[in-house]
Amino acid sequence: MSDIIRLLPDSIANQIAAGEVVQRPASVIKELLENAIDAGSKHVRIIIKEGGKNLIQVIDNGMGMSESDARMSFERHATSKIKTVNDIYTIKTMGFRGEALASIAAVAQVSMITKLPDKEWGVQLEVEGSEIKSNTPVASEKGTSVCVKNLFFNVPARRKFLKSKSVEMRHILDEFFRIALANPDITFEFFQNDTETYNLPVTKLSNRIVGLFGKLYQEQLVPCEEQTPHVKVWGYIGKPEFAKKTRGEQYFYINNRFIKNNYLNHAVMSAYEALLADSSFPFYVLFIEINPEDIDINVHPTKTEVKLADERTVYAIVRAAVKRALGTHNVVPSLDFGWNVNLDPFNLTGKDQQENKPAGNRGKAYEQFKSFPQRNNLTYWESLYEQNEKKHFDFDADDRELIDTELTLQSAANKMTSDPATLKKRPQTTPGHTFQIHYAFIATQVKSGMMIIDQQAAHERILYEQYASFLVKKTTFSQQSLFPQHVHLNPADFELVQELKEEIKALGFVFSTLGQNIVVINGVPTDIKSGDEKLIFEGIIEQFKENQDRLSLTKNENLAHAIAKRMSIKKGQRLEPEEMSNLIDRLFACETPNYSPDGQLTFYILELHRIAELFKK
Ligand code: ADP
Ligand code: MG
Repeated sequence: MSDIIRLLPDSIANQIAAGEVVQRPASVIKELLENAIDAGSKHVRIIIKEGGKNLIQVIDNGMGMSESDARMSFERHATSKIKTVNDIYTIKTMGFRGEALASIAAVAQVSMITKLPDKEWGVQLEVEGSEIKSNTPVASEKGTSVCVKNLFFNVPARRKFLKSKSVEMRHILDEFFRIALANPDITFEFFQNDTETYNLPVTKLSNRIVGLFGKLYQEQLVPCEEQTPHVKVWGYIGKPEFAKKTRGEQYFYINNRFIKNNYLNHAVMSAYEALLADSSFPFYVLFIEINPEDIDINVHPTKTEVKLADERTVYAIVRAAVKRALGTHNVVPSLDFGWNVNLDPFNLTGKDQQENKPAGNRGKAYEQFKSFPQRNNLTYWESLYEQNEKKHFDFDADDRELIDTELTLQSAANKMTSDPATLKKRPQTTPGHTFQIHYAFIATQVKSGMMIIDQQAAHERILYEQYASFLVKKTTFSQQSLFPQHVHLNPADFELVQELKEEIKALGFVFSTLGQNIVVINGVPTDIKSGDEKLIFEGIIEQFKENQDRLSLTKNENLAHAIAKRMSIKKGQRLEPEEMSNLIDRLFACETPNYSPDGQLTFYILELHRIAELFKK
C-alpha cells in the first residue's frame, strides 16, 4: 500500500487552528482590542454591525506596521512579542502566540489598513480564507484598522451555530467591558450599527466604571487596596446592599489581564460573609499585581485561566483587602464632606496604631498578614467627632441647648415613652451630644452632621466580632454560675451540642452532660446576666439551626452569629449615657462597623448640608 500521510495545506490547517481562537464574534473583538493595546494605542474605535456577524472593525492609533510586517502578521505563529521561550515567563503584552490574525483571516474576509507614524503612505491588505487577495498603498492616519466581514463565511456549519444578534452582541460587550475597565488610560468609542453607544474618555478607574455601568454605580463603589512586598490588590468593590441576583459584574485581573478564578472569587465572597442577601452577587473590579514569574498564563489558548504559584497567599490578601474595604466605606465618605481630610485609610501604618488596634474578628487571613498596614478605627472615630461646627453654623450655646431640648421633648418618641424620668435626663456624652430615639436608635452629633445608630444591629456586630475572635484564639472569659442550670434537650439538639462542644466552650460556656439529653451549665460568658444562662444557651442552639438553613456560614461564623443575635441589646431597651458611648466606642473598634452580621446597616450619617437643605425654600 502506498503512503497515505500528507501535510495539510495552510488554509485548512489555519481553519482548524482557528476553531480554538475564534469561537464567535466576541473572540474577534477580544483579539483585535488586545492587539490595539499591545500596539500602544491611546484611542480605539470599535464598529459592530449585526451582532458582529456582518462586520467587526477596530481602528487604533498605535504603532502601525510596515508593509512586510502587515503581510507577516497573517502568518501562523507570526509575532513580534516574543523571541525566545523564556520571554513567555515575563510576558507583558496581551498577546504572544501569533495566532489571532492568522486564525481570523482563515474564517473571514479581512481588510487591514496600517501605517507607521513616520511614513507618508500606509498599506491596505485584503485577505480572504488565508489568502492575500490584494495589497495596495493608501493614504491613511497612523495606526491600524482591521475590518472583519462575514465571519465563518467559508465554514457554514459554524456560521449556523452563531446565536441571535443580541446574544452575540452581549458577548461582544462582555469582552469590551473587560478590556475597557482594565484600560481607563485609553479612549474607547463604541459604535453599534452606526450609533455610538459608548464614548469613554481617558479617566481614572472609578469614572470608567461609571462610564460603562451607569451613574447609579457612583454611590455603590468602595475603594479597595492591600499590598505586601510580592502582591498588590486594588480596585473597587460594590456595597453589599447593591448586590444583584445575577452573577456577572465581577472582574478579576492579574497583571491587567482579565481572568476567571473560582478560588479567588471565593475569597471575595467570603469577605462579604453574611452581609449579602441569599444568592446575590456583589460587584467588583479587582486588579492583582504580581511578579509575572509567579504566574503561568499559558494554560489555555483563550487565556482567561491563570495558574498562580502561591494561590493561598493571594487568596488571603484578596480577602483581607475586601474585608477592610467593607469595614471602612461608611466612615470615609462622610469624612470627605467639606473638610480638609488628611486621613488616608490605606496609609494609617505604624506601630502605635497597630498596638492600639482593638481585638476584633481577625480571621486567619488577618493573622497571617499581621504586618499589613492596619486601619485604626478609633482614629476615624475620633475624627468624626472633631468639633468643627463653628465653621458652619454660628449658634451660641443657648441655641444649641434649645434645639437639643426640643428634639428630645417634642419628639413623638418621648410622648410614647412610659418612663417620664428619661424626658428630663437627656444623655450628654462627651464628645458630642448623644441621646436615644424611641429606645431603638442612638443619635449623636458628629463632624459632618448627625449620626444615627441602630442599637440592636450595632450590638450584634460588636458581639459577633468579639465571639468570633474568642473562637479563633480559643481564649475566653467565663464566670461560674452560682446555681448550675439544667437544660433538657431533644435528642437531635443534644447531638448537635456534642458536635459543637469545643466551640461552645470556646465561647465561654462551662458545661457537662447528665445522662441522656441533659446539659448542666456551670459557667457562662461574662456578659450574660445571671438567670439568663438557660435561655441564652437554648437560644444559641435554636439560632444556629436556623442559620444553617438560611446562611452559608462556617461553624464558627454561625456560632458567633447565633450568640450575637441572642445576647444583643434589643429595640425597646433603654440605655444609659455611658452605655451608649460605650456601644459607640466598641462599634467603631470593630473590623466591619457598618453592618450587622446579617448585613443590616448599623449606622447612618445624616449630613449637615442635607439637614440644611430640608429647610431651604
Ligand atoms: P500576537 O498578538 O499573539 O503576536 P496576532 O496574530 O494577534 O499575534 O498579531 C500578530 C502580530 O501582528 C503582532 O505580534 C503584532 O506585531 C502585529 N499586529 C497585530 N495587530 C496590530 C496592531 N493593531 N497594531 C500594530 N501591530 C499589530
Ligand atoms: Mg494578538
